[in-house]
Amino acid sequence: MAELLQQRFCNAGEWTSLRQQCACSLSSRWFHPFNVALKRRSQSSGILGVGHSQPRQSFELRAYAKRVSEVEVDKQARTAVVVGGGWAGFGAAHALTKLGFSVTVLDASPSPGGLSTGFRTAQGRPVEAGIKGFWWQYHNIYSLLKEVNVVWPFTDWTMSSFYSPEGIQVEAPVFNELPRLPTPLGSFLYTSPYFRNLSVVDRLTALPLIQALLEFDADEETYAKYDAMTARELFRKAGVSAKLYRDFLQPILLVTLFAPGEQLSAAAALGALYYYVLAHQADFDVCWCKGSVAEAIFKPWLDTLNSQGCRMLGNNRVVDVIYEEESNKITGIIAMDGSGERTVYEADVVVFAVGVQAMQRIVASSPALAGREEFAGISNLGTVDVLATRLWLDRRVPLKNPSNVLAGFEPTTGATLFNLNALQVLIKLTISTK
Ligand SMILES: Cc1cc2nc3c(=O)[nH]c(=O)nc-3n(C[C@H](O)[C@H](O)[C@H](O)COP(=O)(O)OP(=O)(O)OC[C@H]3O[C@@H](n4cnc5c(N)ncnc54)[C@H](O)[C@@H]3O)c2cc1C
Repeated sequence: MAELLQQRFCNAGEWTSLRQQCACSLSSRWFHPFNVALKRRSQSSGILGVGHSQPRQSFELRAYAKRVSEVEVDKQARTAVVVGGGWAGFGAAHALTKLGFSVTVLDASPSPGGLSTGFRTAQGRPVEAGIKGFWWQYHNIYSLLKEVNVVWPFTDWTMSSFYSPEGIQVEAPVFNELPRLPTPLGSFLYTSPYFRNLSVVDRLTALPLIQALLEFDADEETYAKYDAMTARELFRKAGVSAKLYRDFLQPILLVTLFAPGEQLSAAAALGALYYYVLAHQADFDVCWCKGSVAEAIFKPWLDTLNSQGCRMLGNNRVVDVIYEEESNKITGIIAMDGSGERTVYEADVVVFAVGVQAMQRIVASSPALAGREEFAGISNLGTVDVLATRLWLDRRVPLKNPSNVLAGFEPTTGATLFNLNALQVLIKLTISTK
């Protein structure tokens, strides 16, 4: 696929903006039922992957992303198909529409939105899979909301508690409200008063990790070295105390990457710690959507995209690509609707914005992609099961903070627990009218 990726897609500046938007990937469940006419165009094609980072074997994805960034614009390329209508698909559609492409987003689900979709119960309560936190560094999402005139939907920054079976072990303060200190001094100092059982000696055993954090992605060789060992191995070698690992590092990995240190590459774990906790003092600060993300954010965003000519089609599962061997180009995709009918969507640019398992299925059903080294490699990627459930309690249970991280209750499994009464305006209203 290297050659296909070299097809002209966009220049470096445009790609940077696309990449930023893709990183803020968004979703919706409001799809407009357009009739799709079969179109034929003969411009050149490009293909891009917008995927999920994955804890193990993450190196292949990084290398792939790097090649994609070298793709340049074809001034003739004007039609784009985005496969997947989750956050990534929305981000791609948004950026491509701004670049002047005529964009069609196809999603397999009748109510797209992917992992962030939502619905209402018979009683009118908004529900979605889990609740999604928006961290301090999600700047592109915050500016996007302003751009598409979404009423600010978020809570203030919240404190979080980390629970073990013995109770609260530590709380995370709101770091951006505190005087800024050099990284990671601020994180270390300001969290110190909140540790209940972890001694300073235990906490100081994390210091040798600073070297690993500074160097792990300096170049591909170093990254590969860290990718070849597990996070648990790295922590052991660095001398991190068992208690610090169990009560602090392990819970953070379980909630950021959904897997314990024994199952994560050290490189993936360092990446998560750097991005979510340590790069800047305020990186662990988080806020929450006061209602359903689908209703509060994606509905108005979709309206904006529609008004700019972007169309979104649900019930369209992409099963293959149209590959022209002679020109070595992808010129479109084939999608199947609920009745099994297949439709060809021609495109100058195809963006895959689906998860790992979905991409594995597409590659398996597409001889053109399966024969390519870059896509064949995706079958090596593993995924993690996540269960989200909503409990309606018959009495109030006091919780110190609205967001809580639980670890140590089950081996290799962690959990988060949210007090929606405190976070979601719509839930509060539903309850107060009872
Ligand atoms: C319980 C839970 C809690 C989470 N908490 C947070 C959080 O606090 N903060 C945070 O930032 N992130 C969180 N996440 C992660 C976040 O929800 C995801 O990273 C994000 O939703 C992924 O969006 P996406 O567009 O990349 O993929 P997806 O949401 O998976 O979207 C992919 C879309 O592709 C479609 N599709 C699949 N196959 C095909 C096909 N063949 N043809 C056409 N369409 C197809 C699917 O229907 C889907 O709509 C959480 C996830 C879960 C499950």
